[in-house]
Amino acid sequence: MQQVNLTLEQGKELAFNCLISNGCDDANAEATAENMITAERDGCSSHGLFRLPGYVISLKNGKINGRAAPVIKKSASSILRIDGKRGMAPLAHTIGKKAIIERVHDQGVVIAAFVNIFHMAALWLDVEPLADEGFTAITMTTSRSFVAPAGSSKPLFGTNPMAFAWPRANELPMVFDQATSVLARGEVQIAARDGLELPEGVGLDVRGCLTNNPESILEGALLPFGGYKGSAIALMIELLAGGLIGQPFSPEISALSNGDGGPEPGGQLLIALDPDRFGDQKGWRHHCEVLFAKMKSYPGVRLPGQRRQSNRDRIIKEGFQIPENLHKELLKLAEKVD
Ligand code: NDP
Repeated sequence: MQQVNLTLEQGKELAFNCLISNGCDDANAEATAENMITAERDGCSSHGLFRLPGYVISLKNGKINGRAAPVIKKSASSILRIDGKRGMAPLAHTIGKKAIIERVHDQGVVIAAFVNIFHMAALWLDVEPLADEGFTAITMTTSRSFVAPAGSSKPLFGTNPMAFAWPRANELPMVFDQATSVLARGEVQIAARDGLELPEGVGLDVRGCLTNNPESILEGALLPFGGYKGSAIALMIELLAGGLIGQPFSPEISALSNGDGGPEPGGQLLIALDPDRFGDQKGWRHHCEVLFAKMKSYPGVRLPGQRRQSNRDRIIKEGFQIPENLHKELLKLAEKVD
């Protein structure tokens, strides 16, 4: 497949123009383009420009509001409800982040419920900036019914990702971000697009049989990671990012979905804590660095997030690649429609 090389600036401009030409105001286009280009910066192409055609379809058919102005409501001093007003998640996060940071500095803890947002971005983008501020944070969201609960071959849960960030002394934060399915659906879509086979154990076909074929898995079901253990975590995420904050569960999102391939409506829970306000105020950083160092001293072990973070310097210098077909499609979508 022919590839086109882009600098991050060119990629962001292309994303911004696609969004502006298809119904976004400046604030939504800027936040969403920045989100996608930050994913590309870290080599996370499944959440980069690859997602733009999906956003554009949902903007054009009116499913998402490209001019949404998110609103923050406080229901207790440590609880924020950030209403995305049926817009794309990145702007709700850009606006919510400021309030979260202020409040964690003030009182050591915030639980933020993001509601009425359309999310299909990588979640590490929502927690790494909080760890850059010295906080630890965890976040989770639902999606559509793609994952069969342990014991079944019928999709029920979303791929329900969860990301966690921990601040470090003189190092980039430790961040993990993982779907509760064996593989994120975006990765399965990319394998299908590129005609690749997947390893055994990622998913089932419509008859409930294990298959390596990504197309068959997209029609059938993904499996939860770690069998019943991943299934339980996916259930917890349904409850915390759905039941707790009054947002739909993944099967309810599926029922509402128009299947246009764009982002789906739902909620996201984010908890941010200031470690200076808990326990060992003076020593926690050093204490945790001892654990990280011990872990890394084991042959074959690396910290989560290290691969992604180590892509940064190279991609900032060299740019990134997207398939030529996608590039052509995006240039067309970026044309101004009056
Ligand atoms: P991966 O399985 O690729 O990676 C999961 C985590 O494990 C990453 O933090 C990764 O770090 C880490 N990791 C991988 N290999 C190792 C290793 N050998 N040692 C230590 N750590 C390792 O991610 P997924 O496929 O599960 O998820 C991909 C993305 O999809 C996520 O960003 C998720 O947020 C997103 N997603 C978004 C959804 C939405 O609706 N918004 C729905 C579902 C998924 P590293 O990156 O450094 O390799």
